[in-house]
Amino acid sequence: MDHFHYRSRVLHCEEIPVSVLAEKYGTPLYIYSRNTILHHLGQLKRAFAAVEPLICYSVKTNGNVHLCRIMAENGAGFDVTSGGELYRALQAGGQGSKIVFAGVGKTDAELRDGLDNGVFLFNVESEGELLALGEVARSLGKTAPVALRVNPDLPPKTHAKTDTSVKGVKFGLDIDTVLEFAQKVVDHPHVKIVGLHMHLGSPILKTDPYKQGIDKGLVLIDQLRQQGHNIVYWNMGGGFGIHYRKKEALPADAFAEVIVPGIKQARCKLVLEPGRFIVGNAGILVSRVIYTKESGGKHFIIQDAAMNDLIRPTLYDSFHRIWPVEPAAGLPTPPEDYESGIAGTRIQDVVGPVCESGDFLAKDRALPDLRRGDLLATFSAGAYGMSMSSNYNSRPRAAEVLVEGSNHRLIRRRESFQDLVRPEVEATA
Ligand SMILES: *Cc1c(COP(=O)(O)O)cnc(C)c1O
Repeated sequence: MDHFHYRSRVLHCEEIPVSVLAEKYGTPLYIYSRNTILHHLGQLKRAFAAVEPLICYSVKTNGNVHLCRIMAENGAGFDVTSGGELYRALQAGGQGSKIVFAGVGKTDAELRDGLDNGVFLFNVESEGELLALGEVARSLGKTAPVALRVNPDLPPKTHAKTDTSVKGVKFGLDIDTVLEFAQKVVDHPHVKIVGLHMHLGSPILKTDPYKQGIDKGLVLIDQLRQQGHNIVYWNMGGGFGIHYRKKEALPADAFAEVIVPGIKQARCKLVLEPGRFIVGNAGILVSRVIYTKESGGKHFIIQDAAMNDLIRPTLYDSFHRIWPVEPAAGLPTPPEDYESGIAGTRIQDVVGPVCESGDFLAKDRALPDLRRGDLLATFSAGAYGMSMSSNYNSRPRAAEVLVEGSNHRLIRRRESFQDLVRPEVEATA
């Protein structure tokens, strides 16, 4: 469920017409619904309540400090993948005791930063990293708490660019050799292996990968304990899918059903690192039509959001629902199924102004004829939208607005042209 709905043929975010926000803040514009975020966070808390999970929101999904603050205020911790994300989490009121530090290439400076801030788990992904962490911890006179991130070698389960648990990807420790490695560090004075970490990939629309991961993890935790490691935490990562096309995603309960029994059996504390599930459907990207044109037998809608604002379609072949903010009379609000024929539409490409043929939000999509100035909403854009944005083509980044009921506030101002050149001008000043 989300709080984006049409009322009197105008798209609203909670109680506010999207057209009002577009007028006030300009386009392209990211709009987030606070109540949708809380709804999804609450669903996870309830589904996994039996094992009292620590939910560590994945900062890379959408790191706006105002959104992160909502997570912290509602009991969540953070999953960070860089020193920059650690900084964001702390700025948002996060506490080290609820922060897990992930990532395949943490530098010494980042490891030190994590230790200085007392992060409660380092998800360690290589032998080299464990040794470096041990060195840094020794120099600080500390002992680093570690969860071994294992690649459980499962069958493919999502897009090749976001599948992190098939053989041959850079993530995690090889499940075939992880025990040999763990044996070597049983008595390490400055690193303590206290957990197992798996992040299987994303988005995942079935429960079997989690079931398979749990089965392999149970065996591994037993073996690690036999070696003398005191395994307390089981971090199952994130990856829960959301509705992009229609109602394809599973509820949190379905994942809990396969994960909770495994956690109980292992007598571990559960850590989760959800990102997309919490914020994905809580955000839309609003854009305005600049031109329409026909070329090579195709119809194009050229609007002011581009691949620099939302790169998922071109990077992952992702599907985002797109529909007018104020659809004309006779059109559905919105269509049930965007892929089959919809009366009053024709097949069109939705493209942006960037000079790349990969710059599109949708290809071959049933959409009504639009005019200059019409507003479009790209749905389910809260995850990996703004956080993957860039200034390519010297496009200032979009503004972000947070809505709660009939209140709204700017949580990131639109970048200016001066913002674009500021670091360059300062470098030579
Ligand atoms: C990206 C990532 C997540 C979050 O994935 P979602 O699909 O957004 O839930 C969690 N853990 C790790 C290690 C990640 O890299």
